[in-house]
Amino acid sequence: MIQGNYFEDNEDLQLHINEITDWEELVGAYEGDFLDAREYQQSGDEKLAMAPGNVQDAVDYYKTIVQSSGELAGTILSQASQAMDHEGLKYDNGKVGFPQPMVDAFESVKEAGIMPYATNRRNGGLGIPLSVQTMMMELTSRADASFAIAMGCVNLSETIEKFGSKEMIEKYVPQMSRGELVGAMALTEPNYGSDLPNVQTRAEQDENGNWKINGTKRFITHACGFDKYPSVILTLARTGKPESGARGLSFFLVEGKDVFVAKIEHKMGLHCSPTCEVVYEDSPAQLIGETGQGLVKYAMEMMNTARLSIAGQSMGIAEAAYREAKKYAGEREQFGRLIQDIPAVKKMLNRMEREVVAQRALLQEAARTVDRYLWRKERLLHDGMSDRDVRKDEEVRSWEKLANFFTPLTKYYISETCNVLAFDALQIHGGSGYTEEYDVARIYRDARITNIYEGTTQLQVVAAIGGIVSGMTANGNLRAYIEGELKKFEASAELLAVQSDFEEVVSLYREVKGDLRDEVAFEVVQSAARFIMGLLVERSNSRVNAQAAAHRKELVKAYNLESKALVQANLIRIKNASVVAQSSAQKEPAAV
Ligand SMILES: Cc1cc2nc3c(=O)[nH]c(=O)nc-3n(C[C@H](O)[C@H](O)[C@H](O)COP(=O)(O)OP(=O)(O)OC[C@H]3O[C@@H](n4cnc5c(N)ncnc54)[C@H](O)[C@@H]3O)c2cc1C
Repeated sequence: MIQGNYFEDNEDLQLHINEITDWEELVGAYEGDFLDAREYQQSGDEKLAMAPGNVQDAVDYYKTIVQSSGELAGTILSQASQAMDHEGLKYDNGKVGFPQPMVDAFESVKEAGIMPYATNRRNGGLGIPLSVQTMMMELTSRADASFAIAMGCVNLSETIEKFGSKEMIEKYVPQMSRGELVGAMALTEPNYGSDLPNVQTRAEQDENGNWKINGTKRFITHACGFDKYPSVILTLARTGKPESGARGLSFFLVEGKDVFVAKIEHKMGLHCSPTCEVVYEDSPAQLIGETGQGLVKYAMEMMNTARLSIAGQSMGIAEAAYREAKKYAGEREQFGRLIQDIPAVKKMLNRMEREVVAQRALLQEAARTVDRYLWRKERLLHDGMSDRDVRKDEEVRSWEKLANFFTPLTKYYISETCNVLAFDALQIHGGSGYTEEYDVARIYRDARITNIYEGTTQLQVVAAIGGIVSGMTANGNLRAYIEGELKKFEASAELLAVQSDFEEVVSLYREVKGDLRDEVAFEVVQSAARFIMGLLVERSNSRVNAQAAAHRKELVKAYNLESKALVQANLIRIKNASVVAQSSAQKEPAAV
């Protein structure tokens, strides 16, 4: 893989940090009134020593973190990823062995102090907003998607931090921050994947009031821990009757030593990420929070950050695909010229460049929407405000609503498109791409899971469509957001044309009835994504330096023109689907 600092070689990412992101807004949202810094001045509590005291301090701190991430990703991890992928994992009677270069890279990340990116600084974490966390996920995933998941699992500490008891937090979170304990999230079962409300693994209390879990979970990443570090498995289990649905599910913490890892999956990609089958036999468990809230509250509240994490991973994979293809096309000659100059190849490369810029704009905006509500919500709850009153807080309410739309939209779009980019990157490598000699084969294989796990694309569409239908009404929040953002720059004619077609798609969708609504929801969500991405890139162009803006203006023009073709095709598809549905309804025999 390309060697170098993956932050420093990425102009777009640097533009986001240096010119595009409104740090006044985001640092304000994350730090409140710089409460931690002020507390540090009074208490001298060393855990708060890194808390920034003003916006510039915060941005300098974030830059140091992404610099280190980019350095480790581009110089250590990326250079080991092919060997790691080829060696893979070893399973022997419940124990999983990891390739030595991966173990070494894990230790390097720990030593660099950047492992606990999602954890609060009070518990040994970095204490950074989601907008920066997503950048780290991207940088690491560009080098190696399996490794990025290992880091992500360490950061499941944020779930314990958020919902666990004080004792639980003290016992487990600092250890996770040190990278000596790895989290796993056990939701899926052999018979229940997307259909989580029906999972049947059981949790029961014994005569002493201690919880025990019985059942089998499937596809559980890092349930085996990592190398010599054990796991804690956050487990969704039924405390209500078998038919009690989502409200009969509760959340538990189970120590890895109390379950048996019966096997790891032999997978198409992510060869260094252990996907475990976990057997619980009277496994001791600690209840997290209240019974009955496991899925409806705790898993749901983690959904936005979890989706962003996989969107960040997909972003890194997309960037890797683009960079490796560009490098290869700049070296490979056919017919006496570099293939990068052959129009058909150039066309693919140009599209890849447009996509990574547009995807990153979407990813960062989705992170912004979460940053705008999440930390304020936590502060208000911490200050003793009731859950009900927090939900009434106007800032929390409006940004959370937007985030609930933006995160599935982003997860769907970037995970789907990283597959397209990986496909094209392999194509540009020709026959060599089909061999394991080049990294693109691994990139292509690793990309394939991103639109399946953490909620398939189909489920992201289900989650996003409501935000369009209600959000695009005359007083809807999405419409207000769009109108507000459009006021920040002068929109191009191409973007306004896409907007007009998108409005038509939404109007048409309002007329659709029955099952057809689910069938064509994808076309509506895709149209929204394309319009919003064009808007975000144009908005960012109004913030960057003149030289960068000139190039990006051309880029977004082509992007919007492509969007226009796509959204118009979606209009035709929705109309066609209605025609087909009507004619088959007419052919149905009359009921007797
Ligand atoms: C490598 C890997 C790692 C994983 N890690 C974890 C983990 O750490 N923890 C964990 O709990 N799980 C994990 N999973 C499981 C993963 O989240 C599920 O595979 C995923 O949610 C899909 O569930 P399923 O495989 O049962 O597919 P199914 O739910 O059977 O879906 C099959 C198809 O039907 C579609 N479909 C299903 N229901 C609907 C619907 N209502 N509307 C529209 N379409 C629908 C789906 O989109 C899909 O195309 C992992 C899986 C893999 C492969």
